Order: sequence, then structure tokens, then C-alpha cells
Amino acid sequence: MNTPRHTLLQLRNVMHDVTLPEWWVAILQSANFSIITTDENGLILSFNPAAERMLGYHAEEVIGRHTPALFHDPQEVAERARYLSEISGQPMDPGFDVFVAQARRGVAEEREWTYLHKDGKRLTVLLSVTAMHAADGRIRGFLGIAADISERKRLENRLTEVRQRKLSVFEQRLRLAEKVFEYSSEAIMVTDANGVIIRVNPAFSHLTGYASNEAIGQTPRLLSSGRHDAAFYERMWQALINEGQWSGEVWDKRKDGSIYPKWAVINAVRENGVTTHFVALFVDISERKEADERIQYLAYHDHLTGLANRLMFEQRMQHAIARAERNGSRLALIFIDLDRFKNINDSLGHQFGDQLLIEAARRLRAAVRVSDTVARLGGDEFLVVLENVGDQNRCAHLVVNLQAELAQAYVINGTQVHAPPSMGVAIYPTDGTRVETLMQHADMAMYQVKAQGRNAWAFYAPAMNQAVQERLQLENDLRRALADAEFVLHYQPQWAISERRLIGWEALVRWQHPQHGLVPPEKFIPIAEETGLIVPLGEWVLTTACAQAMAWQRAGLGQQLMAVNLSARQFTERNLLERIDAVLANTGFPAEQLELEITESVLMADAEQAVDILHALKQRGIRIAIDDFGTGYSSLAYLKAFPAHKLKIDRSFVRDVNEDANDAAIVCAIISLARSLGLTTLAEGVENEAQRTLLEEHGCHEQQGYLWGKPLSASAAEALLRSFTAPAFTDI
Ligand code: C2E
Ligand code: MG
Ligand code: MG
Repeated sequence: MNTPRHTLLQLRNVMHDVTLPEWWVAILQSANFSIITTDENGLILSFNPAAERMLGYHAEEVIGRHTPALFHDPQEVAERARYLSEISGQPMDPGFDVFVAQARRGVAEEREWTYLHKDGKRLTVLLSVTAMHAADGRIRGFLGIAADISERKRLENRLTEVRQRKLSVFEQRLRLAEKVFEYSSEAIMVTDANGVIIRVNPAFSHLTGYASNEAIGQTPRLLSSGRHDAAFYERMWQALINEGQWSGEVWDKRKDGSIYPKWAVINAVRENGVTTHFVALFVDISERKEADERIQYLAYHDHLTGLANRLMFEQRMQHAIARAERNGSRLALIFIDLDRFKNINDSLGHQFGDQLLIEAARRLRAAVRVSDTVARLGGDEFLVVLENVGDQNRCAHLVVNLQAELAQAYVINGTQVHAPPSMGVAIYPTDGTRVETLMQHADMAMYQVKAQGRNAWAFYAPAMNQAVQERLQLENDLRRALADAEFVLHYQPQWAISERRLIGWEALVRWQHPQHGLVPPEKFIPIAEETGLIVPLGEWVLTTACAQAMAWQRAGLGQQLMAVNLSARQFTERNLLERIDAVLANTGFPAEQLELEITESVLMADAEQAVDILHALKQRGIRIAIDDFGTGYSSLAYLKAFPAHKLKIDRSFVRDVNEDANDAAIVCAIISLARSLGLTTLAEGVENEAQRTLLEEHGCHEQQGYLWGKPLSASAAEALLRSFTAPAFTDI
């Protein structure tokens, strides 16, 4: 057995001239290293228990055998042999000579070797081979001490492997980062902790115009545009120090001097809490900003004229009001509408209209201060806000200027047109303190101007407000009244005075208003006209008047004419003739007894069309009276062409016919004109004997007026008709 004594004996055997002390034997036995001795040829002499444990052999098995062949990896030995022969220049066999040579190279040179375990497992050992010399100096044998470092080796290998893998990940990342840096479309600038630029990427150079060698060594001040104040940069630094990051919009300057907006993100790079670098990334946002600005512009401007639109106007107005409030100043809001623009647009085309609007906008802009706002609400409506207008006179002066500018003729593509403005002015704070109220009031003032003949301007007056309110109320009431049958007809007699004969009636509408009582037609006919309510109302009048006359006729009260007024709107209504036919058919009233009163101005408004309509009416046997004659401008040529029966001399000439020589002359002229045209004349508003006589003397034999009878309710008119049977009548 491999007892210590046994081994010792063997050792002694070999090294008979070497005396081994007892402690040495103990070491051999208990050492954790394998200790193997060989003779000078490498035959194993001794093999300690550690060697047995390490290599799996019993001492008996290996003693006398050749070590390299037993435990060594032949390839490794061969490699070593090659190496040693290379460095020594001596050929060497891959065998024990390697170890001999190894031993000779130095005392106990340690080397890593691979040992093969009995079961084939490979071990890494740290082996030192020492030559043992006899007294005469001859090599008697070798002592090999080996420690199994497989485990350590494996750990080491593993560690290096991990380390290498880590290294390669890091390298890969580094390489990637480098690529990102190079190819990024965002400009990247790295500075050291002091803000000195140490690296920039190509995108940086592209954006700023600075090559990397021009930027490196500089500070970011190189890029500064001067647009930001010190406080801006101070805030940036504070954010970088406190939060480690800053982002925002910065205006910078390129190398060529051009200024551009960029979006920048700056990060502080910290190691162990200490800032080592700053990395700034930025992109040029000029295009985005331009697009934003364009969108902004479109949202706030009228695309045709470039003026402010309603949205912008309202904002500006809010600000202007706030300023006026602070300064205690006054501002004027002017509402402008171009008269006749619609006509121009319709007749000369939209392109022409557009040119006119552009020119009007230009004039308005040129007439006010830069700080004043000019807006277009759409169509031909403009608004102007004048700030600090001072007193009413100064304001009026400004408005008159504006008006004069706009009243001038426009020459567009060689065509001259006029589109004078109607303007309404509301003043902050007297006419309102809110945008909405001021707008409403300026609008009302303008509306008033339009109603009174256009091409003028007016300040808003609270009375206007009331008038508008009343008008709106009336309009509503009118609709209701029609549905609720609140209208009645009164009938005013018309006389052939020389014959003392009642020839007919004029039907005059009244409104039996539940609150306001009997409302005269002047109060509601114009509104009915504007709203179109006149059409159903007129039809009602016509039907009622015809039905009434028919009823009297059927009651044996005689055959009178029934004169019915036709308004402008009714006269131009497309199906006027059909309506009249229907009324006549429904009531059974003879067309020959119906007289339609149409004012001179309505007929002359479109005389050609009027001629056609009048002919169509005449064909039906209907009579035509030209109402309010003398108040309009008649063309004699047309007058001749109108198939009318009667001229009604307007009340305004009759009133002063005895006092005013002019009126008398006009009345005479009308009468002789009518005579020459083959028409009869009827004088309206005859109130006294003097008028009656004068008119009669000049040849006007038909009269209507308070002298002959006021407009009467249907029952009163009927009573009058019945009274004609009384003998007293013949005395009139
Ligand atoms: P018009 O057709 O010229 O009617 C004559 C107006 O003169 C009537 O006023 C009548 O009452 C008034 N008048 C008659 N004789 C005298 C007089 O001696 N002195 C004075 N100071 N006035 C006299 P009214 O009824 O208020 O009608 C006013 C206008 O309203 C009418 O003028 C007519 O243009 C319009 N009108 C009335 N009824 C109707 C209707 O049914 N349809 C349409 N479209 N218009 C109507
Ligand atoms: Mg009339
Ligand atoms: Mg009249």
C-alpha cells in the first residue's frame, strides 16, 4: 500500500545517498500538492497521496512508468518541445527531455500544464520540476510538484470570458453611438463641464455652417443671435444645474449671419454626481414655424384682402377696449357697407367685385394709423377700430376722411364704378363697453344710414336702438297679425264731382293691433314690403275688396269701381296675373270694375317690364291708376306707352294748391298732360272748397279727400251707399 513508509523506502531506494529527514516525509504524506519523483530518465519513483487523489492512480500503478506518457497531453508536450527547440536551436523530442530542459532552465520554474486524469478528465496544474543532484553533481532524478488549479483556471477563464463579452457589448454600443452621432439629422454638440465645445457632428455643421474644427474650442456663444436676453440664458443654466435638462426654442445665428429658430434639448452628463459634459441636440424649426405662422395667419385673416377677419377683429377689439379702459380714452368702431356692391358684383362679375374689395381694403388701410384695426367681416362689410379718437368732432373728422376715400370712383380694368359707403359709428364707452354691444350699435347706425338714403354716415344714437327694437317687434307682430286676421279694410269714396256721382272706392288697409289700436299703413306697409309679407297681405286686401264690392253690388247698392293699391313687391311678383285672375274668379267681381293703383315710381323703376304687365292687365279689362303722380320722375315716352286710365295727383300738390303758385302750376301741368295722353285725373287729399274749385276749374273732375268723405269702415261705407236712396243726396 501507499503508506508513507513505503514511499519513503522507495525514495531512499532511488536516492540512496540522500538522507531525508522525517519532516520531509511528513510533508510528502500530507501535502495538498502532488509530489512525484522520477529518476533521471523520467521513470516514476514516488507518487504521494495527493498525486493519487489528483490523478486517480495508485502509487503502485505508476511507479516505474514514464511520466510524460502517463499524465501529459502529448500535444501540449509536443508544442513545448517545439518551442524549446526553437529557443535553444537544439532539436528536441517531445518526451521527458522537455521536462529535463524545463528543469534546467531555472530552479523550479513553474508552468501551467495539462494533466490527464486516469479517467480521461483534463486538469490544469501548476507544475514545477526540479532536478535533484547527486553529491558528484550528476542529475539523479527529478522532483515534480504540481497543484491542481483547474477550478481557479475555470473561474479565471469564465471571468475573462465575461469580461470580454462585456467589453464587446460596450464596444458595440460605442460604435453604434458613434454612428448615431455621425449620421444623426439632429445637430449634436458636446461641451465639457465649462461649456467649451469638444465635439460636434456633421448635422451641426450643416445647420450652423461651422465646421467641427471651427466650433471645437469655442463656447455655444458662437451661435448666439442676440435675440435672447441674459435672463433667458440664466433660466437655461438654472434648469441644467437643478434638473440636469433644459429644452426649448432658441433663436440662433448661422455662420452666414442668418437667424433661425431651433428646438434644443440640453442634457447635463453626470458621473458620480459631478457634471462632466453637456450634450445639446437641436433641430432647425424654421419650416415648422413658418407653417405654424401661415396657419395662424390664415386663421386670423381674410384671405381676399389680407385684412383681419372676424376672429382677429374680436381679439384686437378686446385689447383695444382694455387699453381704452386703462387710459380712460375713447375708441370708435365703424361699421362700413359698400352701397351698390351687390349690383356691381352681379352685373360685372365676382372677379371684378373681388378687385373692388381689395382696393377698398387698401384705401381703408391707407386712411388709418398702423395701430388701428381694419377688418373684413365678409361680403362688402368692413369694420374699422380707431383708437384714441378724442372728442366727437375729431372722430367725425376721421370718419368723414374714410368716407371720402371710399366714395371715390374705382377704376378696375378700365371700368369706372362707384360703391360709396354707408357707415355707422359706435363709441366706447358711451355707446357700449363690450365688443358685442358696440358692434350691434355701429351696425344699427349703419342700417339707419342705409334706410335714409345711403352714402352717408351716422353716429349711433340710443333712439336708434329703440327704433330698431320697435321695428323688430313690429315685424314679429305683423307675421302674427296675418295669421290672426287682424287687418281690416277701410273704403274711401271717389267722386266724379261735376256729375255729383260716387264712382268708386279706394280700399285702404288698417291694422287692428290688439295693443296699439288702429295702425296706419305707413307704419307697416314698408316692413311688409321688406319682409315679403306684403304678398299674402296684398292678396288678402285684393280678395276682401273685390268680395266687398261684389257683395254691395249683389245687394243692389250700385256698381262702383274698387281701387286697390299694389305695392312694388306685389307688382313685380312673378305670378301676379295668375293671382289676380284667381281672385276675380273666386269673388266673381268683374275685371272692368277693378282699378289697380300703382305708384309712379314703381312703374318707372322698370318701365319696360311695367309696360308688359300693364298690357296684360288691360287685356283682362282691369283699369290702371298711376298713384301719387308728380312725386317721381316720369319719362314721358314711357308714360305714353303705359296703357293706364287715370293719373292720381298726389296729395302734397293738392294741399297748397291755392297758396303755392308752384304747386298750382304742377297741378295744371299734370292735368293738361293727362288730357293730352287721353287719361283722366283724380285729385287726392281734397279737403276744402277752395281746392275743389281750383281743381275743377282746371279740368280735374274726379276727386277724393276728406271734403268728400274719409276712409270708412265697410259698414259705414255701406250705410253711405244706402243713404244715396235718400232725397237729400241730390243736393250735394
Ligand atoms: P294712397 O294710396 O295715396 O292713399 C291715400 C291716402 O291718403 C290714404 O292714407 C288716405 O287716408 C289719405 N287721404 C285721403 N284723403 C285725404 C285728405 O283729405 N287729407 C289727408 N290728409 N289724407 C287723405 P292711408 O290710408 O293712411 O294710406 C297711406 C298709403 O298707404 C296709401 O297711399 C297707400 O300707398 C298705402 N296703402 C294703403 N292701403 C294699402 C294697401 O291695401 N296695399 C298697399 N300696397 N298699400 C296701401
Ligand atoms: Mg292709393
Ligand atoms: Mg296716393
